[in-house]
Amino acid sequence: MALFTIADLEAKLASENDSLKGKSILMRVDFNVPLNAEQEVADDTRIQAALPTINHLREHGAKLVLCSHLGRPKGNRNPKFSLQPVAKWLAEKLDTSICFCDVMEEPSTLTREMNEGQIMLLENLRFHNGEKSNDSKFAEKLALCADYYINDAFGVVHRKHSSVHAVAGHFSNKAQAAVGFLIEKEYDALNKVLQPWDGPMVAVLGGAKVSDKIVMIENFTHHCKDILIGGAMAYTFLAAKGVSVGSSRVEKDKIAIAKEVLDTCEKRGVTLHLPSDHIIAEEFKETAKATETEEIPKGSMGLDIGSQTQQRYREIINNAACVFWNGPMGVFEWENFAQGTRTIAQALNDCPGYTIVGGGDSAAAVNQMDLTENISHISTGGGASLALLEGRELPGLKYVSKR
Ligand code: AMP
Repeated sequence: MALFTIADLEAKLASENDSLKGKSILMRVDFNVPLNAEQEVADDTRIQAALPTINHLREHGAKLVLCSHLGRPKGNRNPKFSLQPVAKWLAEKLDTSICFCDVMEEPSTLTREMNEGQIMLLENLRFHNGEKSNDSKFAEKLALCADYYINDAFGVVHRKHSSVHAVAGHFSNKAQAAVGFLIEKEYDALNKVLQPWDGPMVAVLGGAKVSDKIVMIENFTHHCKDILIGGAMAYTFLAAKGVSVGSSRVEKDKIAIAKEVLDTCEKRGVTLHLPSDHIIAEEFKETAKATETEEIPKGSMGLDIGSQTQQRYREIINNAACVFWNGPMGVFEWENFAQGTRTIAQALNDCPGYTIVGGGDSAAAVNQMDLTENISHISTGGGASLALLEGRELPGLKYVSKR
């Protein structure tokens, strides 16, 4: 599926002797940022990611109506989840005044009075139940704000919410709905993973649950030569192979599916690698004593991959043409169990091939460890990148594709 991009929109306007100048644009962004105790933006990564599109549209004379959600206010106007701190951030960093209002306060009258390049930010869309329920009336209200629609919120393209799905339908018939630069970049980078590679394609998958990633693993068996498994999900696979895993976290109801995946891999000639040594502890606690071992005794649990496994995984990654990584190798939030994840982050950064980190905890890990320099792409959307690589239809892209 090809997306309708800003370049496509500009080309269409140019063919009509028109341009973005003076046009009002409703732009869905992902400003779901963490706030500190002083209600200030604590991490601006997501705002920064939207700036290339915001700056481009402003420079071309568009009037911008930005909209986003923040946190989970559950349909209530809760000041704790207000987007006011983001309005303040934008005003300071872009050195401009930001018009701030709620979608129910008839922003359309204000849009008409806006100057070229001016920005309006709407209050948290999730203060209204209509956002999450993909309500058509709510979408209509949003659509009234502008002449055009641009979605640049990659982190929510897998959500069927009003501001990503229903509202885009209002603009798509007239080819007035497009994606911004961030979605275009994410979409291209992630799709590249599934293209044929001249060399081994490797997936590194970790994290808490097999159930979250089973569809993606199955999809990867069509594309990968090696799948490296770490994190708690490794123990469900080991249990499926009859290996003793002590009191490690196992999803008992997924053992049968794990067996099927192991069979599929064998049939398709894919090697699913599992840890052969572990960092174990007797309790699930940050200060628990960490011991390295090949066998997990009764009463102990695996909380990270061991050093032999790290070395084995590092070598496979190093020889790959393309590596996709999602999910930590252990309880990386605790120093005693962070080394496996650190080794994978370092291996991706050192790999000369195309390397991509699929958002969430793994993106946080490479950022924290300052190992981002040589990684080809770090996705801003964990759930969205998994949905895309599972081959799922993404509701947020339905109305912003080329017809
Ligand atoms: P996910 O959201 O599925 O990517 O899972 C990430 C979480 O999995 C992190 O909070 C890790 O602490 C946790 N995790 C990773 N390895 C293990 C393990 N061996 N045992 C328990 N939790 C783990």
